[in-house]
Amino acid sequence: MTGSCPTVDRHAHLEGSLDADWVRTEAAKLGRTPPASLEALWRGEAVPFEGFIDAFFFACGFLTSAEAVRDAVRATVKRLPPANGADRGVDLWVSPHFLVRQARFLDLDALWRGLDDGIREARAQGVKIVAIIDAVNHFGVDHGHEVLDLVLPGLPPWVAGFSTGGLERVPFRAWAPVFERARKAGLRLAAHAGENGPGSNVRDAILDAGATRIVHGVRAAGDPALVELLAERRIPLDICPTSNFALVPDLGAHPLPRFLAAGVRCALGTDDPGVIPTTLPGEWEQAAKLGLADGDLEKLRTFAVEDAWCFQADQPGGGLPPF
Ligand SMILES: [Zn+2]
Repeated sequence: MTGSCPTVDRHAHLEGSLDADWVRTEAAKLGRTPPASLEALWRGEAVPFEGFIDAFFFACGFLTSAEAVRDAVRATVKRLPPANGADRGVDLWVSPHFLVRQARFLDLDALWRGLDDGIREARAQGVKIVAIIDAVNHFGVDHGHEVLDLVLPGLPPWVAGFSTGGLERVPFRAWAPVFERARKAGLRLAAHAGENGPGSNVRDAILDAGATRIVHGVRAAGDPALVELLAERRIPLDICPTSNFALVPDLGAHPLPRFLAAGVRCALGTDDPGVIPTTLPGEWEQAAKLGLADGDLEKLRTFAVEDAWCFQADQPGGGLPPF
């Protein structure tokens, strides 16, 4: 393989970050058995998206204290490659409303405290992390507003953005007022789109909801005009090959080489590396296996840094106070 692995994980979920050993140990203490779908994912097998959701909910059900949250942040840092002189960072997606209000695993203060501890500890090791607040598309627009109601008062300084995830069922047109509210509150806008929904969701997330960054977007590859739009508008795509192979069963050939050839700014992320086991070097290996030329691998490394919110957010004019 040519060159060294990028040192920025551009897309990891806090809730999917606790690794299998950690979850097994805590589950055994409580006499709980991981669901079959989680065991299958830990073995590297593909499961339907609904099975992934069951696995994900089980694995994140142990985020019941500030210490567990800190451990999940630590796990994302551990999966980064050594710095080798490069900047290291993680753009970390977090779902506070799910953890605090829906599942009631812990209260908001404990969640923020655990994140703050983990993020500061990472900073002390030279790893920059910002959080992106994730709302769940299929829970609907009212849920989106409730997410903002929960997090906007007393928003910690390391929160850089707002995003939607989950099943792409509610049109982005309907979500637009929620995105606009987040934007006015100073948050950058991202969306999971074109993963379990059609490629047209990618266009809608950008044009209807104002997203400036797309997570996955793999189904956009079938629409040349949309690929052109992504390149022209310099919309970063967070690409997570291991997750895509597990959760997009009809994906076929991964579109990463086509995106890069068309000038789309792609970078790699681990997505839910505790649930669908991987690391950033693992994603780099997957990318190399797709037959990327040296120049494309170099682009992955460059875009990973240039478009990472963890490096931009506390720059002068970046929208966040230094912390
Ligand atoms: Zn994701």
